[in-house]
Order: sequence, then structure tokens, then C-alpha cells
Amino acid sequence: MSLYLYNSLSHKKEEFVPNEPGKVKIYTCGPTVYHYAHIGNLRTYMMEDILDRYLRYLGYDVDRVMNITDVGHLTSDGDTGEDKMLKGAKREHKTVMEIAAFFTAAFFADCKKLNIRIPETVQPATGCIDDFIRVISALLEKGYAYEAGGNIYFDTSKLDKYYVFHGFAEEDLEVGVREGVEADENKRNRADFVLWFTKSKFEDQELKWESPWGTGYPGWHIECSCIAMKYLGERLDIHCGGIDNAFPHHTNEIAQSEAYLGHLWCNWWMHVHHLNTTSGKMSKSSGEFLTVSLLESKGYDPLAYRFFCLQSHYRKNLVFSYENLDNASASYRKLVLRVAALLREAGASADKEPDAEALAALKKRFTDALDNDLNTSLAVTALYDALKSPASPATRLAAVRDFDTVLKLGLEEKAAAQIADEAEKEKAAAASGAGQSFSDDPAVRSIEERIAARAAAKKAKNWAEADRIRAELLAEGIVLSDTPAGTQWSRKEG
Ligand code: AMP
Ligand code: ZN
Repeated sequence: MSLYLYNSLSHKKEEFVPNEPGKVKIYTCGPTVYHYAHIGNLRTYMMEDILDRYLRYLGYDVDRVMNITDVGHLTSDGDTGEDKMLKGAKREHKTVMEIAAFFTAAFFADCKKLNIRIPETVQPATGCIDDFIRVISALLEKGYAYEAGGNIYFDTSKLDKYYVFHGFAEEDLEVGVREGVEADENKRNRADFVLWFTKSKFEDQELKWESPWGTGYPGWHIECSCIAMKYLGERLDIHCGGIDNAFPHHTNEIAQSEAYLGHLWCNWWMHVHHLNTTSGKMSKSSGEFLTVSLLESKGYDPLAYRFFCLQSHYRKNLVFSYENLDNASASYRKLVLRVAALLREAGASADKEPDAEALAALKKRFTDALDNDLNTSLAVTALYDALKSPASPATRLAAVRDFDTVLKLGLEEKAAAQIADEAEKEKAAAASGAGQSFSDDPAVRSIEERIAARAAAKKAKNWAEADRIRAELLAEGIVLSDTPAGTQWSRKEG
């Protein structure tokens, strides 16, 4: 089967075909670095990460670019409200550039904890002002933009088609009005949006640049179009972001990019739906500010949160609650223990080579799931299927390793750590001789006690004694084998 991806442009799943065979160019709207990312934002980046990793898994050469919004994003996406960066800087009593650097680093740290791959190119908006000015100048020249009240606006009435996503209506443009913020009198059409601010209500705007229209700063939407075109050229394969970005941000990105280029810009639009709390929208300002660090401080493994997210589909809203996360954490823990058991089994088995046919059958379930619009919950089911399949341990382990290059649940690392931890505990118990529980069966107990005594002798580097115990047990038909999880014993056959 080929990869089918839902496309917000056509409102249906379509077979994914890149512009250039074997190559995929992806643009991702990055974070506005005025605060920590909440776990909802990170759900979006995680599901985009699945897309990125799965395309690589399929053998595509992926080139991915992400912006960092460090200027121009106002508290309302409709060009009204406060500048988010300025607001953040005031809150932290720092400069805009200081908070941008701090929260960009914090974002990368969160990505690392969640195994989210950082795209090859990450570009802060403030580093591309010349590119924005060049594109805005061209839009003015082509008649797609106008100057009013000192600002430059994009003229949406010049387009044949503006609302490209799911049936947004004029009322949606009244976001600012609904939030009690004044409408911009300079706009010729309600849908018009700012490309460059010079005269603004932000007298204290920290970051300003010279432009042909006066000292000012860019509107939010222009950065993504320019950064994408700068690094990925005139044609994008996939553009992604959270569903709230579809309108007006992505709608405006399409409007200005296609007006500038004169042709279709991006074939696929992928939108990740929201993570909500039981009381509604996730927020950075009210209620509990849910960050990865907060989850960690409560004892949760960030990868258990990744597991939680993978259990649902990216085009469905997901409700976060501690109860839901507890359930996911318990399942994740069990999963790690199962992989640890498999590692031991595969280590003990003489058969080290996976069976190609059986492995291909297991992989097919996995790719069938992800080929169907990245159905991660079915991909997780395929992982469980692999674990419980009758295939050899080497085959099952190869499947787990293979699937985890996409799912990135850190299964083998966590399982190996689990085994090492158990071995450490056993060693400590053997050394102290205390706290070790032995079987009630006197025959078994005698064996276990001598194994513990042997471990203590080894720890004390008393090799002669350790060998003597091994030989003694062997004489009784008990064979010992030392594994990373400690010494195992079995009865000699025959
Ligand atoms: P921002 O830093 O506010 O620009 O948002 C970063 C990313 O998170 C964007 O792609 C948003 O669309 C996305 N996003 C915002 N809120 C949520 C949420 N509650 N759940 C999932 N994604 C979100
Ligand atoms: Zn964007």
C-alpha cells in the first residue's frame, strides 16, 4: 500500500506523491517563544515528528524547515491585541531577545525529552527581515498589497479564492471583535491582514527595522511564507501545524505565497487537532500550565506522554487528564517490561537471525496502519501483535526495533535500563545477603542460596569459591548461566 494522508485542502485522504520522486519538502510552523510550550503544542510537534520519521522510514529524503516566531505574533491572530513576545518580556523582566533565546532552548529541551526530532533547518523570524521586505515589496508591486495608516496590508479582495480550508465564514474574522479588541479601520476588507507594521499602538516595540515604508516590524504570517520559500524553494510538499493555525495563519500564508509566486505553493496541508483539558482549552495563562517539566515533577516519564498521544489519531481532539495519563503510564511501563523480557529471551536464544518472512508479515501490519493517514494507535497495536506473535525472539525483537525507529518510545533503551537495574539490585542483595527472598521449596531454596553465595564470592573476587559452588551445583545436575539480569539456573537434561 502507499501512504495516504488527509489533505486539509481537498478535505480527503489522498495518496501522497511528492513533487520530486524520493524527496519530500516539509515546512512546520514553529513555536512562538514567549513562554514554555504546553503539552498541547508538543502533541502537535510529536505528530508532525511521526510524519517526518515515517517518511524517512519509507525511504524518502526529507528536508524539513521550521521557523521560530520571535516577532510579530499578536495575542489575537487577527492582527489585534498585544505582541506576545513583548508581553513575555515584560512578564519576565527581560529583553525580547533574551526570552526568545531562553524559551527556544526550553522548546528544544522538551523536544529532546519527547524524542521529537529537530528539523534540519530552524530559522528565527528576526533573522530574515530582508527576505520579508523583498516579498512584501513584490506584493505591493504586483498590486496585492496596499499601504494604509502607515502599515502595509495584504488585499484579500484581489484573490479569486481566499478561504481554502474547511468552510470558514466571515464571522470567523470577527475574532478580534469577540475578544473586545478594536477592529483595524485601515483594512479595506475585513479579511485583509498586516504584512508590515510601522504605525502601531506599540510605541514600546523593542525590535524594529528600517524598511521602505518606515521603521517597523513584520506581521506574523509573512515569516512562514518567506522562510519556507528561502530554504525549500517555490514548491512545498507538505505544510503542517496545529488546527488553530488553519485560519487565519495558513489561509494567509497561502494567499501571500501564491500571489507572490503566481502558482500553487503547497500540495498537502496537515493539521493536528488539539489536546484539551477536561475543562476545555489548554492555556498558558489560566488553570494549571501543563508543561513537560510539570509532568516530570509529578513523576511521569515524558515518553509515557508520547505513548499517550500515539494511542489516539492526530485528527481527533484528545482530552488530557491525569487519570488518562496514569493509564497510559501503566501500559507504557508494562510495555517496557515486555520488551525487557524479550531482550532476555532473545539473548538466551541460540537463534540470532530474524526470520525474513515472519518479520515482513509483522512489518506489514505496522506500515498498513501508518499508511492509513498515520494511524498511530493501530501502529501501537501492531507493536503488541509483534510482541505476542509466535515468531522467534530474534524476529520479534527485530520488529520492535524497526517500529520504534518511527514510534520512538525508547523501548529498547528503557528495557536495557530495566535489566541493568534489576541486575544491580540482585547484586546488591547477593552482596548483603539480606532482603533476598528464597523459595519455600527446600530443594530450590538450597540452589538459590548457593547461587547467592556464589554471587557474593564473585563480588569479593573469591573466584575459587565461586567456581567451587558452580562445580558443586553442576555435580547435582544444576546448570548456571550468567545473564545481564543475574544468574539463571536450569536442570541438566538426561
Ligand atoms: P504557538 O507556539 O502558540 O505558535 O503554537 C505552537 C503550535 O501548537 C502550533 O502549531 C499550534 O497550532 C499548536 N497548538 C496550539 N494549541 C494547541 C493545543 N491545545 N493542542 C495541540 N496543538 C496546539
Ligand atoms: Zn506558520
